[in-house]
Amino acid sequence: MDIFGIKALLICALIFIPFEHLFAERPQKILRDGFAVDVIYLLFNSFIVKAAVVLMAAGVLGLAAMLVPQSITQAVGGQPVWLQVAEIILITDLGVYWAHRAFHKIPALWKFHAIHHGIKELDWLGAFHSHPVDIIVTKAISLMPVFFLGFSEASIAIFSIIYFWHTMLVHSNIRISFGPLKWLIASPQFHRWHHANQREAYDKNFAGQLPFLDVMFGTYNATGDKVPEKYGVDDPVPSTYFGQVGYPLQPRRQRSNPTASSTEAEG
Ligand SMILES: [Zn+2]
Ligand SMILES: [Zn+2]
Repeated sequence: MDIFGIKALLICALIFIPFEHLFAERPQKILRDGFAVDVIYLLFNSFIVKAAVVLMAAGVLGLAAMLVPQSITQAVGGQPVWLQVAEIILITDLGVYWAHRAFHKIPALWKFHAIHHGIKELDWLGAFHSHPVDIIVTKAISLMPVFFLGFSEASIAIFSIIYFWHTMLVHSNIRISFGPLKWLIASPQFHRWHHANQREAYDKNFAGQLPFLDVMFGTYNATGDKVPEKYGVDDPVPSTYFGQVGYPLQPRRQRSNPTASSTEAEG
């Protein structure tokens, strides 16, 4: 049994590491700072998140069976799988967008999300570097409607695989141009400019997969080919896994990152 997903880790590493070497956006060591902590995120943190999502799904599916008329779930689950997958991506990314924006805007939530922004060198493995509360709340908000509406198991499974690989790709240290598709599909360049620790990047590019949501809601940051100067946050985020998990619960200190306290028109 591979409950911690060690096989998945090896497959992802075998695919991403050579690409990050061949098409590096910036020179970076494979065993960069924080690599070991991120392996804990990938194996242990992801395990906690998976368990929470399975429990949540079971609860929501039970509730949905009682509350949602069968005529709706049968109509939704009876559509072609490709159409269901497209609808799931749109529905979940609307949830991701607004949950993400709330995590930036509300100071108590920002302390959880600051962990993800603590990444100083972006790569595929950094995709897993998030506080469990951050991921579980975001997944609850974004997946709840999907479970309620009765999308088929096959379409949810295909969506999960697409999401898993897409989230690693947008965090990867790969220089790749999406051309005109950059409006439709989130690219590494799009998400890099969410992680940049620079004024023009604060509270921009919240979408997980669909950049046009940021265009629609006024938070899109068009950067062309520009490379961010630096990533990370100014908040005093600890360097160990358990230090990071406990960080949001610590007594309030002076916040130094302007992201959460920004007074700019962000809504
Ligand atoms: Zn963020
Ligand atoms: Zn990220």
